[in-house]
Amino acid sequence: MEEIPLTYNIMESLVKLFSEFLLYIFIFFLILVFRYFLAVGLFYHYYYIKNKEKFRPKRLSKRPYKKKQFRNEIKWSLISSAIFAITGAFLYLLYNLGYTQIYLKFSINDLWYFPLSLLSVLLIHETYYYWAHRWMHKQAIYKKVHKVHHDSLTPSPWTAFSFHPWEAMLESLILPILLVTIPLHFSLVLFYLLIMTISSVINHLDIEIYPEKLQKSLFGRVFIGATHHHYHHSEFNTNFGLYFTFWDKWMNTESDKML
Ligand SMILES: [Zn+2]
Ligand SMILES: [Zn+2]
Repeated sequence: MEEIPLTYNIMESLVKLFSEFLLYIFIFFLILVFRYFLAVGLFYHYYYIKNKEKFRPKRLSKRPYKKKQFRNEIKWSLISSAIFAITGAFLYLLYNLGYTQIYLKFSINDLWYFPLSLLSVLLIHETYYYWAHRWMHKQAIYKKVHKVHHDSLTPSPWTAFSFHPWEAMLESLILPILLVTIPLHFSLVLFYLLIMTISSVINHLDIEIYPEKLQKSLFGRVFIGATHHHYHHSEFNTNFGLYFTFWDKWMNTESDKML
């Protein structure tokens, strides 16, 4: 007699949990779509519409965009946003269950821990991305996972999140890895997501926005910008890095044209 209401209660809780999970996926999806159109839209408007003539000579690729390229990039980016939203909802669930190391309270130690944790996250993500990227370029993997991104031979700001769902999954996996293993303040996580978004748009802009002096300085030799990633899209087997050039330099995969 008692088992029926108990089973019913468990079922009811599961349905509630599942519908909440779906709701969070939907909310994260809306946020991610908004961030895509806002970040890409701002850069696209400034460099490709408002100051089109000024930046035309600075375009890195001589090849024109393919017919319907932007439309396809937006389509794949929306699918990527759905994948990222599932990861986001999963992370929110992990956070509520106490499995992430995200913290909310500020302390005096954050003065030194903030920059240190940011640098750690950047270096770990760089290493994860570089090797995952090299793996995605293996012949057996490439067509299924990474070809969608390279269909954009001439990158555009809209290419920033244009990935096949398998690649989007692989790319989003770094977030749970980081948030479960490293204590990070919530504001730092948001700041890091902002860096991720802006750097992806800048790297795919196909216009070098850093001044020539800066590019030739230590900054330009250490950090990746539009020129570095432009060569990845045009030469295909060089410049695999994300934020920094060190893995490409160590593994001898940096394009000769970067010298
Ligand atoms: Zn690639
Ligand atoms: Zn790319």
